[in-house]
Amino acid sequence: MTSARDHDYYEILGVAKGASTEEIKKAYRKLALKYHPDRNAGDRAAEEKFKEVSKAYEVLSDPEKRAAYDRYGPAAFEAQAGATAAGFHDPFEIFREVFGGSGLFGEGLFGSLFEEAFGSGGGKRSRQERGADLRCDLEIDFEEAVLGCEKQIAFPKLEVCSACEGTGVAPGSARKACPTCRGQGQVRVTRGFLTVAQTCPRCHGTGAVVERPCTACRGEGRMKQTAEMTIKIPAGIDDGYRLRLAGCGERGAFGGPAGDLYVVVHVRKHEIFERQGNDLYCEMPISFVQAALGGEVTVPCLVGKATLKIPPGTQSGQIFRLRGRGVADVHGRGIGDLLVRVVIEVPTHLNAEQRAKLEAFAASCAPGTHPQHQGFLERAKRFFGGE
Ligand SMILES: [Zn+2]
Ligand SMILES: [Zn+2]
Repeated sequence: MTSARDHDYYEILGVAKGASTEEIKKAYRKLALKYHPDRNAGDRAAEEKFKEVSKAYEVLSDPEKRAAYDRYGPAAFEAQAGATAAGFHDPFEIFREVFGGSGLFGEGLFGSLFEEAFGSGGGKRSRQERGADLRCDLEIDFEEAVLGCEKQIAFPKLEVCSACEGTGVAPGSARKACPTCRGQGQVRVTRGFLTVAQTCPRCHGTGAVVERPCTACRGEGRMKQTAEMTIKIPAGIDDGYRLRLAGCGERGAFGGPAGDLYVVVHVRKHEIFERQGNDLYCEMPISFVQAALGGEVTVPCLVGKATLKIPPGTQSGQIFRLRGRGVADVHGRGIGDLLVRVVIEVPTHLNAEQRAKLEAFAASCAPGTHPQHQGFLERAKRFFGGE
């Protein structure tokens, strides 16, 4: 049975007479996918079209046959082959040839569809994985945090395998197409009526296997090593600060990119200073005489010293602010202050002379000498309702 269209293979494929081999192949792929019986179950017309397309492709893709066709037309082939078209190859075989694989809607076709959709290498997958992020805890001194420093750190991490330089292949061995999936990266599994393409378990979808994997890294291309690096701690960081070092984490498996390294900084306590934001606090004991008479005291700072003027009659717990003597902000937003809280120290041991002088001082005191004390006594009296 021959239809009118059988007489023009170019028309069947929808290409021009002068079409290139590539154009012919492309047209065939498109039509063969469209009319493949697996996709058009029970549709006789589609099956016929599938056969026609296959015949047209078979002739036009072969330069010799195409030349004969161009000269004599389809009669050259139909006559020679007889009514059964036995001279043509099985259309499914041609399909297999063009698409690779089994020709069913399994690995080969899936691969090709994938390739057509994404322009990549079939159904193959990369086995590469990004390396893990690492956390590393680092303890530094208070001054180092405030002023910045450089620190040498050493930690275990997965690095490029030195034996195979990260390829995962033993020296003298090579990578070859996976025999299980014939390099397709996928295998066909039949479950009842369904044929499903699955990632090849042997090559994990990469389409390639290694003859002899590197023994040092068991083919992963990476291995545990001690990494050493110098990290710069920026001035002004505080306890708990997290530094991110991109690409300094673990190497990815099978050549994948490295993860990041996070360095969490812990700052040791200072003997004198406490920190709140960019301000520093310190508590400074002064004598009760200094507090009463006033005077100058020397205050230690992170860098150098400062002189603090104590006014006469300074009370315990009073706070004095030294501007710009705190921590320079880590992001460059100004500098904090130093806050000095004075605490009045009362002597615990007095000699006879000191005792006599203080007794004389006490005797000279009028109620107005200690107004706070006096005020408290009066409030207490009212509270208890006594006289
Ligand atoms: Zn495989
Ligand atoms: Zn290795």
